[in-house]
Amino acid sequence: MTILAASPAAIAQAAALLREGKLVAFPTETVYGLGADATNDRAVAAIYAAKGRPQFNPLIAHVAEARDLDDLIVWNDAARLLAEHFWPGPLTLVLPRRADSPVALLASAGLDTLAVRIPAHPVALELLRATGRPVVAPSANASGKLSPTTPAHVAESLSDNVELILAGGKCAVGVESTVLDLTTPRPTILRPGAITREMLERQLSRVFEATHDDASPKSPGMMASHYAPHLPLRLEATTVAPDEALLAFGPDVFVKGGATRLNLSPTGDLTEAASNLFAMLRQLDQLHFNGIAVMPIPALGLGIAINDRLQRAAAPRDAV
Ligand code: AMP
Ligand code: MG
Repeated sequence: MTILAASPAAIAQAAALLREGKLVAFPTETVYGLGADATNDRAVAAIYAAKGRPQFNPLIAHVAEARDLDDLIVWNDAARLLAEHFWPGPLTLVLPRRADSPVALLASAGLDTLAVRIPAHPVALELLRATGRPVVAPSANASGKLSPTTPAHVAESLSDNVELILAGGKCAVGVESTVLDLTTPRPTILRPGAITREMLERQLSRVFEATHDDASPKSPGMMASHYAPHLPLRLEATTVAPDEALLAFGPDVFVKGGATRLNLSPTGDLTEAASNLFAMLRQLDQLHFNGIAVMPIPALGLGIAINDRLQRAAAPRDAV
């Protein structure tokens, strides 16, 4: 891990590292972010591994210009209006993903939506321009620790897991961005932040707040649990029935030949497995089977988040 003052040369180096799939921490106006190339499945998986999150929460994709989002999400009028008014700034918009969006499915935690933002920090904007790709950047701290507002905080929390920290002083806002869901006719605040409901209501006539007892719960946690395949999942499978597809893991796959199977990681690499999880579940789910058998995945490191997601996907629908 290296800490460099955010000079043009350091920013160019950081952009090159991001394009190689490495993790780089950088300042935004809210908190320091742990950045990865949003289009690189392995790099996105490495973010979850570095943070040690026991769950796959969807991540925010950051870009430098609104037009950089044209390939990623489906715009609507409210999004255009708010983007015009509040970007660059501490407002994250949740929008439908384009079907051909190049952003890793893991970044959306398997959802059909994507959270996007243009940060208002000169270092973040220069880095995003130099990288030329969307960058996912959750707060640069280990799971359960406070969000970092100085480079020293990042180094304390993540030193082994980040290639480079771009130092750009203390973050001005210090709290995370407001997250606003624009995927339904009711714009809904999923996470309160620096852009308040009153500020949003000056642009959109009504803005709602997600509450726990909301008729249609939309809090980030609930959203994150939303993706489930149509086919039932059978976990810890040590056999596969003729009417099941197999989601395998590791080198010791018990069926050879016949059965339709995809392997999350033939070498048993959990980062590779995480990067393949949502795409492979979706692929198997489209096939004509009566269920998906999933081989055991070790509950270590990223395996904890993978198992968490599989368990939710396997739970009876009305219990999710
Ligand atoms: P962080 O990356 O730590 O700033 O957290 C990102 C926040 O945005 C979390 O609260 C996520 O649950 C929320 N978020 C990101 N993507 C989505 C999405 N597609 N739908 C709903 N919430 C999202
Ligand atoms: Mg955080």
